[in-house]
Amino acid sequence: MISSKLPTVGTTIFTVMSVLANEHHAVNLGQGFPDFPMSEELVSLVDKAMKDGFNQYVHMNGWPLLRQRLAEKAARLYHAAIDPETQITVTPGGTYAIYTALTTVLQPGDEVIVFEPAYDSYIPNIEINGAKAVRVPLEFPSYSIPWDRVRASINSRTRMIMINSPHNPTGSVLQENDIEELRKTVAGTRILILSDEVYEHLIFDDIPHRSMLRYPDLLERSFVCFSFGKTYHCTGWKLGYCVSAPDMMKEFRKVHQFNCFSCDSPKQIAVAEYLSNENAYLSLSGFMQQKRDFFRKLMEATPFRCIPSHGSYFECYSYGHFSNESDKDLAIRLTKEYGIATIPVSAFYQNGDDNKVLRFCFAKKEETLTKAISKLRNLSV
Ligand code: PMP
Ligand code: GLN
Repeated sequence: MISSKLPTVGTTIFTVMSVLANEHHAVNLGQGFPDFPMSEELVSLVDKAMKDGFNQYVHMNGWPLLRQRLAEKAARLYHAAIDPETQITVTPGGTYAIYTALTTVLQPGDEVIVFEPAYDSYIPNIEINGAKAVRVPLEFPSYSIPWDRVRASINSRTRMIMINSPHNPTGSVLQENDIEELRKTVAGTRILILSDEVYEHLIFDDIPHRSMLRYPDLLERSFVCFSFGKTYHCTGWKLGYCVSAPDMMKEFRKVHQFNCFSCDSPKQIAVAEYLSNENAYLSLSGFMQQKRDFFRKLMEATPFRCIPSHGSYFECYSYGHFSNESDKDLAIRLTKEYGIATIPVSAFYQNGDDNKVLRFCFAKKEETLTKAISKLRNLSV
């Protein structure tokens, strides 16, 4: 027998709800993944790379041309001067990049500030490194960051603040004042930033994405994590990358080289080529905003109340005005009895705080959304 390193952790809510959805043939608006096809051109580029013989290890830091293209993109979009040799590492997905950054930095006893609701891998990834997650709840229902509370939670053991914009599960996004507050909070401290930006291209309402790559003074203390799965509608690819300051990236690579070493080569070759198509990622916000708006309109015919999303592919809805049921019970009941799966937002709070909110994924074909919500119209309240 082994003694568990994560004794309080069960199976991730995404797997729990997707399994339940399959069992009950429910429409799955729970786990976040698109149900429409990815670009055929990008698929062909992978095919071509394999046929051209790119089937062996590439450099452990990532295919050089891919890193170069990513640095050029960061310069165009965020005016960032990133050295692809020393500051970018390609990873098997965003989650791995986050885990690796935490493992690179954390020593037993360190503290990391995490905002709740938090993507469910964050806290276990901190704890498995012997560090402590200091949980700060986002304001409800705006899900904005309570900076005074952040500052009150800081002490000499605080090593990192984790931020995530656009935010999963709530779709909230960083505003200019958040950047100023973040600056004030970390100035003169040893606090690093882990910025989860996997939804960088899914931001709505003409709001600019406030990437840490824009701010040299913040980037020098940041690990910034991205995922091609979200950008190119291929969550199953598990390909992403991390950008950091050269001295921090040097340590990140020490961890990476003995864990994954190098990532899927044909896909790296293909993405390097496909990145020259700027429209493929720049058109994404408009495309997904349309889905959000279509979904929101459908939801008006249900008793749920919208908590507006400004990014990601999720929107949260509250129901406390018509039911006392726990969000987990309601999510299970909707799956079994109404054939629609969602995610209960209490799963993103370590103590299971339940504000009576469900998360819906709207990255679906219009017909899928219409079918799902038609089932909710009959919800007995
Ligand atoms: N962070 C957040 C907030 C996410 O929603 C996801 C999506 N799974 C990830 C990280 C991880 O992305 P990937 O699938 O590339 O590991
Ligand atoms: N990021 C996706 C979500 O939030 C799911 C990823 C996963 O299943 N681990 O739904």
